[in-house]
Amino acid sequence: MKKNEIRQEAEQVILHTYNRYPVVLDKGEGVYLYDIEGKKYLDFAAGIAVQALGYHYAGYDEALKEQIDKLTHISNLYYSVPMEEAAAKLIKASGMSKVFFTNSGTEAIEGALKAARRYSYNKYGEGRHEIIAMEHSFHGRSMGALSVTGTEKYQVPFRPLVGGVRFAAYNDLESVKEQLSRKTCAIILETVQGEGGIYPATREFLEGIRTLCQEQDLVLILDEIQCGMGRTGYMFAWQEYGVEPDIMTCAKALGCGVPVGAFVLNERLAGASLAPGDHGTTYGGNPFVCGAVSKVLDIFEKDNIVAHVGEISAYLTEKLDALVEEYDCIAGRRGKGLIQGLVIQGRPVAEIVLKSLEEGLIVITAGSDVLRLVPPLVIEREHVDEMLEKLKRALDAVL
Ligand SMILES: *Cc1c(COP(=O)(O)O)cnc(C)c1O
Repeated sequence: MKKNEIRQEAEQVILHTYNRYPVVLDKGEGVYLYDIEGKKYLDFAAGIAVQALGYHYAGYDEALKEQIDKLTHISNLYYSVPMEEAAAKLIKASGMSKVFFTNSGTEAIEGALKAARRYSYNKYGEGRHEIIAMEHSFHGRSMGALSVTGTEKYQVPFRPLVGGVRFAAYNDLESVKEQLSRKTCAIILETVQGEGGIYPATREFLEGIRTLCQEQDLVLILDEIQCGMGRTGYMFAWQEYGVEPDIMTCAKALGCGVPVGAFVLNERLAGASLAPGDHGTTYGGNPFVCGAVSKVLDIFEKDNIVAHVGEISAYLTEKLDALVEEYDCIAGRRGKGLIQGLVIQGRPVAEIVLKSLEEGLIVITAGSDVLRLVPPLVIEREHVDEMLEKLKRALDAVL
C-alpha cells in the first residue's frame, strides 16, 4: 500500500485524537528513521524523548528477544528476576528507596498522587488532601494526571476533575506559598517543564520548594518522565540541583521503547504511604518490560550515556545559540542537555516542523511557539551538524 492509502485507511479506523504528520514510518537504525517509501529522516524527537538509545542499540534487541522466549507476563502476584533487577538498578541510579512499576507516565503520576494522599491521610487523617501543581505543566491524560495538568484546554471539556488541586506559577515561590493552606499535602512539578515549552526550574525555586515541603511536611513529587533518564546531562534532572524529591515519576526513556513507567519513593514515603491493597496493576512491571529497563540501565552505566550527554549537549547548545543570533524568527533558546527548545516568532512553529520533515529531519513542538529538540542521547557531532543544515534549509524555506 502507498503512503496516502495507508493514511486514509488509518483515518477510517483509528479515533481521530491526533493530527498526525503525513509520514508512514517503517523502520529505524541508529538515530535515523525510514518511511515506507525508503526516505531517511534524522530523528531529533526520539518518539517524544523515548528512544534515548536510538534504534537497535547494541545488545538491547537481543535482551528483549531473550526475555520474550522465556516469559513476558506473570501478574504482580509473583516475583520475577527482571523486576527485582530493574528495581534494584533504578534504586541505585536514583539513591531513592522503593519502586512501583506502571505501564505509562500518566499511571506513574496517578500512583504518585495516591501515595502522597495516603501519606498525609496516615499521618493527619481526612481533609489534608490538597495538591499544588504548576501552570503550563503536563502530567498526562488520565483523570488524576489531567487534574494536575495546568493547561485549560486539556481540562475544560472533562470537568469535574479530581478535586483539591490548586495551581501556582512555575519558578515563582511566592505564588506557590499563596496556594498553601492547612489542607495542602503535596506539591507536584516537572524539574524541567516539557510539553509546556521547555522551562527548566531555577535553583532558587526548587530549593525553596524543598524547604517549604520540609517545613510543612508536604510530599514533593518531581515529574521526571521527560527530563529524567540522562536527558539533562544528569541521570535525573533533580540531581543537578541536589534537591531530592519524596516521589519521582519516570516513563518515556525508562524502557527505551517498551511501555513502562515507574514511581519511585524515598524512605520517608516508602515506609508510610501505600500498603498492600492500596494500589495495583495487572501488567505493570512485567518481566518483558522490566527486562528492557534492566538492560537500558546496564547500557547507561556501561557506555557512560549520561557523560556523553554532557559533552554533546555543550556542542549542540553552542550551535543553537549561534542559530538564535542568525535568525530573526528565533527569539531564544531554553533547555538543559538534550532537552532544548527554540522559541519561534513570526511564523507558526508547525510550519517549520513540516518543512523539516520534507528536508528529512524529525523535530516536534512544545507549547504554542516552541520547536522542541529531544534527540536520542547517543547523537554525535555529525548529527548535530546535519540537523542544523536541514533545519536551516527548513527555516529559509518558510521565511
Ligand atoms: C509524557 C509525559 C507524561 C505522560 O506520560 P504518558 O506515558 O504519555 O502517559 C507525564 N509527564 C511528563 C512530564 C511527560 O512529558
